[in-house]
Amino acid sequence: MKDSDEKKSYSRRRRGRKEFQCHCCRKVLPFCWNCPCGFQICDDCFKENLWGISNGPTWICPDCGRVRMM
Ligand SMILES: [Zn+2]
Ligand SMILES: [Zn+2]
Repeated sequence: MKDSDEKKSYSRRRRGRKEFQCHCCRKVLPFCWNCPCGFQICDDCFKENLWGISNGPTWICPDCGRVRMM
């Protein structure tokens, strides 16, 4: 029962902010790293770009330059 319920709710577009879209690969996901400016990046792309945007416990939004906590 629970399995089918989850599948339904997962494929259906719900209202609210439960979905994110990665700005790099355009995938729609239940979670992305995000910034108040609207920038969103998925975990995969985040890891790929980590060397460029992260500096220890923080990462820097490539759109607005805000320092974000991980
Ligand atoms: Zn991505
Ligand atoms: Zn930003």
